[in-house]
Amino acid sequence: MKLTIEALAAYLNQLYSGKATEQSLMMKLVEEMGEVAEVLNKRAGFKASQDENLTRELGEELADVIHYTVAIAAINQIDLAQVMVRKDRIASIKYHHPINLEDFLEAFDQK
Ligand SMILES: [Mg+2]
Repeated sequence: MKLTIEALAAYLNQLYSGKATEQSLMMKLVEEMGEVAEVLNKRAGFKASQDENLTRELGEELADVIHYTVAIAAINQIDLAQVMVRKDRIASIKYHHPINLEDFLEAFDQK
């Protein structure tokens, strides 16, 4: 199984289209971002934690953030992968990066 942004977007569009609004998904996204912050605060010792696996929890909360981010794009028929490649190209020029995502992906796909 290989998870792609396109497949995740198609799945989330099917899951949420007509059943959730971008506003309700944004509220969930903010909630999940708070959960990421909470885990990071625990890892930094700024918040008490029990014997939790904080790396596993961080992964789960980051997955939740991606879930709702892609869901908002999906129900708006936004091709997030295409936008990410275009924005990275602009940033790579602006910040003089030695490589951009598109070139990286071409080399990565050839492996
Ligand atoms: Mg969560």
